Amino acid sequence: MRRIPVLYIEGDGIGSEITPVMKDVLSAAVDKAYGGEVVLDFEEVLAGGKAEHLMGSSLPDVTLERIREVGLAIKGPLMTPVGKGRRSLNVALRQALDLYVCQRPVRYFTGVPSPVKHPQLVDMVVFRENTEDIYAGIEWASGSDGVKKVIRFLTEEMDVHAIRFPQTSAIGIKPVSIEGSKRLIRAAIDYALANGRKVVTLVHKGNIMKFTEGGFRSWGYELARDEYRAYEKDGRTYIPAEGGDILLNDCICDAFLQNILLKPQDYSVVATLNLNGDYVSDALAAEVGGIGIAPGANINYDTGMAIFEATHGIAPDIAGQDIVNPLSLVLSGEMLLRHVALVEAADMVLASVEKTIASRHVTRDFYNLLDDREGAFCLGTKAFGALLVENL
Ligand code: NAD
Repeated sequence: MRRIPVLYIEGDGIGSEITPVMKDVLSAAVDKAYGGEVVLDFEEVLAGGKAEHLMGSSLPDVTLERIREVGLAIKGPLMTPVGKGRRSLNVALRQALDLYVCQRPVRYFTGVPSPVKHPQLVDMVVFRENTEDIYAGIEWASGSDGVKKVIRFLTEEMDVHAIRFPQTSAIGIKPVSIEGSKRLIRAAIDYALANGRKVVTLVHKGNIMKFTEGGFRSWGYELARDEYRAYEKDGRTYIPAEGGDILLNDCICDAFLQNILLKPQDYSVVATLNLNGDYVSDALAAEVGGIGIAPGANINYDTGMAIFEATHGIAPDIAGQDIVNPLSLVLSGEMLLRHVALVEAADMVLASVEKTIASRHVTRDFYNLLDDREGAFCLGTKAFGALLVENL
């Protein structure tokens, strides 16, 4: 029998409602797919409120150590204070473990209520850079000694005169490197090659931020030429691939946010920087049913270390009522299964989600958005989870 250790962080707020559903669905799928030959050994590690309460730290060293040892974890959402207090635990985890890809597949399941006319045209995988950009956490508050020093340095030594209100400005720094950009874009191109996808789009704001976002774009094309033998034809760049070459193009982020509404079928694999990726992922998720169903993973493709996660937050407004949608975490679990090559089990989870939604059994968030509720069933989180298991 093959035992696969999987660490899990339950998560704050609704975490304690969606995590058991995810564990049940994944365990049952693996059991069914491999007839008991493979077992997922779930082991809890603590982070967030539960860790704070039991261990006096929201991200204890033992949690990080254990994740480093095992290399595979799945987490529920964690609370982050806004504008004050400690930094995001999610960002801290990604940076501490150098999980440089935030990977978010976005596809439509028939029957999910959507605000757009043709949600079935959306089928993309977003590769968001996870360790750099304005998210690196290098900032100084308005009026602080640090910001005064930085502004003095910029004006006196760097001849910068574009800070409109130097007396009251807060300052943030946006590091974007060649290595950081190339490893992210490499992961996106490798994914396209491995999964038969035919378009890779670099999304950036290089028209305004020429050296950081513009650099990301240029380094992407450079990488394609140097490592993938990319070639030019009729003014376009192609990467040689079996079954048809891959088109490598780029798009300015604001135009991209329009295009994903107007012509989403033009895009397949998307590689972008940290902040753009945050906006793009949520906008795309909204097109196919919202954050309740959008899965995500943070991966270091060099070490294989990965943390899979629900992309929504802790939803304090609906916690504890057995009404939340567990699909974001369940589908993140589906990605986890694929990551450890349990493809048959992953396919089963997808098929169960498809079947369950097609039979018009949904949680309250989807039920409330249905135009026609005739023949639809509104299930609680636990009952919905049980049906997912039954439909495997
Ligand atoms: P949120 O995702 O918690 O909630 C936004 C809206 O979506 C709410 O109306 C909520 O009820 C709804 N919602 C979220 N998940 C749902 C689900 N599974 N089923 C049904 N409805 C769902 O975002 P927020 O309100 O901006 O953030 C609340 C807290 O969560 C903050 O502390 C924030 O920092 C944290 N957060 C954590 C993560 C993470 O851990 N990855 C991500 C985003 C936000």
